[in-house]
Amino acid sequence: MPKKFLCLVLIIVGLGFYKSQAQTVDDITEISNSPKILVLNYHQVDNKHTSLAVTINDFETQMKFLVDSGCITITPDELYAGVRGEIELPPRPVLITFDDGYIDNYTHAFPILKKYGLRATIFIIPSFTGVYPGYMNWDQLKELEANCITIESHTLTHPKLEELPDDEIRSELLNSKTLLEQNLGHPIEFLAYPTGTYNLHIAGIAEDLGYKGAFTIKYGIVDCGSNFFALERVPIFHTQTTMKDFYERIAWRQSFEEFGWIKK
Ligand SMILES: [Zn+2]
Repeated sequence: MPKKFLCLVLIIVGLGFYKSQAQTVDDITEISNSPKILVLNYHQVDNKHTSLAVTINDFETQMKFLVDSGCITITPDELYAGVRGEIELPPRPVLITFDDGYIDNYTHAFPILKKYGLRATIFIIPSFTGVYPGYMNWDQLKELEANCITIESHTLTHPKLEELPDDEIRSELLNSKTLLEQNLGHPIEFLAYPTGTYNLHIAGIAEDLGYKGAFTIKYGIVDCGSNFFALERVPIFHTQTTMKDFYERIAWRQSFEEFGWIKK
């Protein structure tokens, strides 16, 4: 009897294991068939020799490359709906994002985006808006929004959220959302974590406050296996002078190679 019982247990465990394996395979198949969205993350477009600044020429070359590769730029809303299977995305969807809201996004990046007919999304720190000269003001943000640029939140003051108590995390996420909504007149539903740092607790607060998704600087491609509150991006930094820049540029090319968009 104990032997029979042991056999039964082994069969049940074995079936359970087989089932869990099969589900894993299904999951992988689903992910491999789901849309793959490249989310690029820029900060500054300027001829400065800093790691955050992509030169104006390089930015234009990269934008032209996207267009020549047949990429179609999308909004965070389209990313959200596309990953959930609610809409069909174009074959090579790209979300171009900028963090912080530097003035050069308006003076340098915007004319290039316009020239190539590309959409982009800028994550803004609204307590800086119209206050610091290095950052865009409300009129500039409104002009961008009238021209295919989406504005979303990058918190109120750009703190490291992981170092804050809960009430301050809530206030950063909620007050930035409210201030942007009041000034721009539409819902703000996406967030980019300052410095890309987050944890599941912060993600939970963002979800409670009505955000639909949040972007990190975790390197990767968004697909149906992504967590909406830990969305992957490919950071693009200064690309001219150092080996570090060089490797980052390679990383940028690799993401296209993984898609099969360009030959290795
Ligand atoms: Zn930032």
